[in-house]
Amino acid sequence: MNITLYNTLGRELRALEPLAPPRVGFYGCGPTVYNYAHIGNLRAYVTHDLLVRTLRRFGYEVTHVMNITDVGHLSGDNDEGDDKMVKSAEERGKSVLDVADFYTRAFFRDTERLGIRRPDVVCRATEHIPAMIALIERIEARGFTYRAGGNLYFDVTKFPHYGDLARLRMDDLKAGARTGVDENKRSAADFVLWFTKSKFEDQALLWDSPWGRGYPGWHIECSAMSMQYLGEQFDIHAGGIDHIPIHHTNEIAQAEAATGKHPWVRHWLHNEFLVLDKGKMSKSAGGFITLETLIEAGFDPLDYRYFLLGGHYRSQLQFSYPALEGARGARRALRERLQALAERAGALPAPGAAAALPPDSKAAAYLGAFDTALSEDLSTPRALAELWGLLKDSAAPPQEALAAAFSMDGVLGLGLAEAAAAGRAPAGAPDGIDARELEALIAERAAAKKARDFAKADAIREALKARGITLEDRPDGTIWRTA
Ligand code: AMP
Ligand code: ZN
Repeated sequence: MNITLYNTLGRELRALEPLAPPRVGFYGCGPTVYNYAHIGNLRAYVTHDLLVRTLRRFGYEVTHVMNITDVGHLSGDNDEGDDKMVKSAEERGKSVLDVADFYTRAFFRDTERLGIRRPDVVCRATEHIPAMIALIERIEARGFTYRAGGNLYFDVTKFPHYGDLARLRMDDLKAGARTGVDENKRSAADFVLWFTKSKFEDQALLWDSPWGRGYPGWHIECSAMSMQYLGEQFDIHAGGIDHIPIHHTNEIAQAEAATGKHPWVRHWLHNEFLVLDKGKMSKSAGGFITLETLIEAGFDPLDYRYFLLGGHYRSQLQFSYPALEGARGARRALRERLQALAERAGALPAPGAAAALPPDSKAAAYLGAFDTALSEDLSTPRALAELWGLLKDSAAPPQEALAAAFSMDGVLGLGLAEAAAAGRAPAGAPDGIDARELEALIAERAAAKKARDFAKADAIREALKARGITLEDRPDGTIWRTA
């Protein structure tokens, strides 16, 4: 199936035309592992996961590459501020690599809980320094660099396409306000390819290079690693919208300066931000919300996934707890519908049963509309509406409806098959109660008690009592029994 995606380069919806169909090379910028990912960052990775799952559903053979930034990322994307990794290591009294290891693990624990599939290639910047040096040498050989103050810089005035992605004007860039922090730069938009004169005396990680002992700038890692795994030109590159004006703009300049090939990447996909009532969420500012925060508040990570899918990736999404509660309620209702269908169906359909749906069936029509929604710039709100339409349509035979819903879940990743099965044979749970739901309610009550919201905790206990379940608090947790 063909798919149309919004391309930031050109600001238009464009049909995906891979360089070597059915293969698709996809690079998504990964995390800088100096702290936990906040739920805004996780929106970016759910978007990447959604893209990959959709492409695979439509028959493309995707190679998904993601970097792990463990060196070179300063707090300002334009070479200013502290080194994020070094600062974090100092604060924690750990080595940079220990910090990187710890937060890389935490990152994958989060993504796994959100149903995000692991990329095919996960590459750490510190393990690819030779590839970065080789790429910088090519850029230098083609005359795009200068040395100043011990560092090697990219001269943006030499690269005619500079700023195309962000629609920046070269005149503005040349004249751009000098911040006064790095007097070595000839133009404000120039950026460091290789640091030798570190601003940080205690820089832990240093490598030998033709420009002296030092370390790479942040942007070069993505150009070098993406090309190492996907070739000198590839199909899709993604990240959050904050990456458009600097990071991705610089990645393009480096790659095209080195190879002379244009365009380096055909499709640039950018997710909008998740914002809080109070404004921007930032990893460096502290006080941010992580997936763990949501779990402690009694939510299932998939409630958050559902919440994200309810918005289009190109729309700004406002996070709030009431909105997340709405997503949780919707997911609960979804489970109940699936379980009711499973009861009516008798047996659950086998995996892949959707392929055998009669073409003129109701379920096949919903599935077709679901695919159309995804094929039109990954419209998850419409795709979810098709799922709901299917589950509410009493004219669709239960077996067929379940087969179609499970097929949709191949992209949605909401664990629908497990939810339907849970209703049929909950391990030891009383009739009509899903063990997972019960666990979620117990967790919600525990969180309410922790927050001293005893009215809510009591309300949960009473609601369960009305359904024939008694809760008993013990020193090691809460157990339940049928009354
Ligand atoms: P970082 O680890 O800071 O390099 O960011 C990881 C990814 O999260 C990047 O693709 C960013 O563009 C993206 N990102 C950062 N903040 C947000 C946010 N509030 N909402 C959505 N995406 C974000
Ligand atoms: Zn990147």
